Amino acid sequence: SLSNDWNIPVKFCANRQILLEEEGVKELSVLLQTQRTIEKILNRKPDFFGKNRMPEIREVVLTPDFHKGKGIPVGTVILSKDFVIPQATGNDINCGMRLLSTSYTSDQILPHLDDIENRLRYIFFQGGRNLPMAPEQRQALLKYGISGLIDTCGITKNEGLWRYFDAEREFSNLGHIHGRGSYPADDIFALKDYIDNSRGISHDSVIGTLGGGNHFAEIQYVRKIHDSQTAYQWGINEGGVVIMIHSGSLGIGQMTGHYFQKILKDIYPKDIGYPENGIFVLPVHGELSKYYGRFKTSMYNAANFAFGNRLFLSLMVMNALDSVLGESDMKLIYDAPHNLIWEEITGELYEYIHRKGATPAYGYEVMNDSEFAYYGEPVIVPGSMGAPSYLLRGNGERAFLYSASHGAGRQLSRGAAMKISDRNLDEFLNSFRIVTPVNMKDHQIKKRPDIMKKIRDSIKQEAPFAYKDITPVIKTLTESDVAYPVAEFYPLLTVKS
Ligand code: 5GP
Ligand code: MN
Ligand code: MN
Repeated sequence: SLSNDWNIPVKFCANRQILLEEEGVKELSVLLQTQRTIEKILNRKPDFFGKNRMPEIREVVLTPDFHKGKGIPVGTVILSKDFVIPQATGNDINCGMRLLSTSYTSDQILPHLDDIENRLRYIFFQGGRNLPMAPEQRQALLKYGISGLIDTCGITKNEGLWRYFDAEREFSNLGHIHGRGSYPADDIFALKDYIDNSRGISHDSVIGTLGGGNHFAEIQYVRKIHDSQTAYQWGINEGGVVIMIHSGSLGIGQMTGHYFQKILKDIYPKDIGYPENGIFVLPVHGELSKYYGRFKTSMYNAANFAFGNRLFLSLMVMNALDSVLGESDMKLIYDAPHNLIWEEITGELYEYIHRKGATPAYGYEVMNDSEFAYYGEPVIVPGSMGAPSYLLRGNGERAFLYSASHGAGRQLSRGAAMKISDRNLDEFLNSFRIVTPVNMKDHQIKKRPDIMKKIRDSIKQEAPFAYKDITPVIKTLTESDVAYPVAEFYPLLTVKS
């Protein structure tokens, strides 16, 4: 537990091997000053949050991969009452992980990695992604997520990547997506331009993009099974091959965030002065409640887009594997957001769980009528492009706000990682296969130091030495009863922009 001026319970989920990052704690204490903002507003305008409402930050949980972010630390879970902090989702609304199993074995794939790499490069970066979308489809996606795509897929049937979109399969996959891949929104505020950017069916330049930084599409093999009964039920076998996708809502989430940051400033009571810590609050009741409704709608639009984006990214990998190895069977294991706000309303109690860089890990009680009723929610915890990643099953630990870490966590800031020697980078590049927008082994590219440096720098920032060891993170999650390991994967190839 960490102390603070307001006695807000702040719990750090970690064992002795994990140190609490100082920079992150500084950022956290700035965030907690939001409680002061609330008190200041209440003093001047007692009804700002609605009549007889007592808004407060109720609890904060820091996951084992907690570290400094940009404004809000990564790995922060906030339980609030009667208000939300829109910024506490991070810019990339519904950034998340998607995991699929394939019918291939690592032995089948290994001899073809060169071909797979070239094909992936073409599809992801060199114009090979053909994904036509009609305005109705964009609109349905923003409003209803995967369900919207299922309802409108007929418009572009069998065109480009849509050949891989099987409506029946995607429908049966809905139970394997947190929130069933859809946060229904009845309107679109921030993103009207996105829908209307062309009248007829046109190539979508946004959806099916990985995004920069630590986003990735990775082909991994199953290196170890930790819980054979669950792994068997979930269709995971040692030596098998899985696909892991990490991406979010891209520019769509950014646009939504900017749109709302402006509104938050506009509706803030002028006579009080902007919050000292720069973090704006949004009441859910009272005179301004309609803005909360609009915020929720906009956040859901972006979240729905992100579900669709991860779906198409996985179809792109499927397309690459298919064209090299012949048709395979792919099964969705799970897809979950790690940047979002969830409503928790019971009777008159209006609570909100904000997760920024933290993944839901509900237990069997909540997974009640789903396929995961007996096992708990699948929890995907990636390591790095040169380290193992894990699949766990959630245990619904209330003490940690039903949340697990969403990765290993950064060890070096991007700036610090850039100072790592070229020799260390080459050592990493020699032992792992990274699919970058251009082929670094290409002779023409090798003669272009400017291009080479740009790619090498961006890999440096995301290389395994920039991340912490995943082992203590998994150990902590297990020991604190947050989630239990099911299987361990190891990268065969990573697509990175
Ligand atoms: P974030 O959502 O905060 O951007 O990153 C989530 C986590 O993904 C990081 O903490 C890190 O552990 C993991 N990660 C980053 N890049 C890669 C990658 O290329 N492959 C894998 N397997 N994990 C990664
Ligand atoms: Mn993201
Ligand atoms: Mn993320």
